[in-house]
Amino acid sequence: MLEDNEESSMRKIRNELINECGAYCWCCGNYFTPTELQGHHIITKAQGGKITKSNIAILCDTCHKKQHQLIKQNNWRKYHKSMKNIMYTGKVLRENYQKFMLEMR
Ligand SMILES: [Zn+2]
Ligand SMILES: [Zn+2]
Repeated sequence: MLEDNEESSMRKIRNELINECGAYCWCCGNYFTPTELQGHHIITKAQGGKITKSNIAILCDTCHKKQHQLIKQNNWRKYHKSMKNIMYTGKVLRENYQKFMLEMR
């Protein structure tokens, strides 16, 4: 469980990322309402990963559970591969969303 102050910094980073990238899951790419999306530590908390924009990915409940399943199984090969894809999708989502916002102005 996250402590109170971690909970609020996670909420802050999560909201910032959703504002920048749109309310999409970075794993399945589906659109959600912002409250359905969760912040996930790319480098896990146990491995010293912090709540910073570069270490948080936005995931839906289903995809988030899948990542934690891999962590629980110690399936780091699959986890790292999955994180690589997720970070790439996050980057593409951000670029597309920024372009979209520019066109809307
Ligand atoms: Zn998802
Ligand atoms: Zn997580």
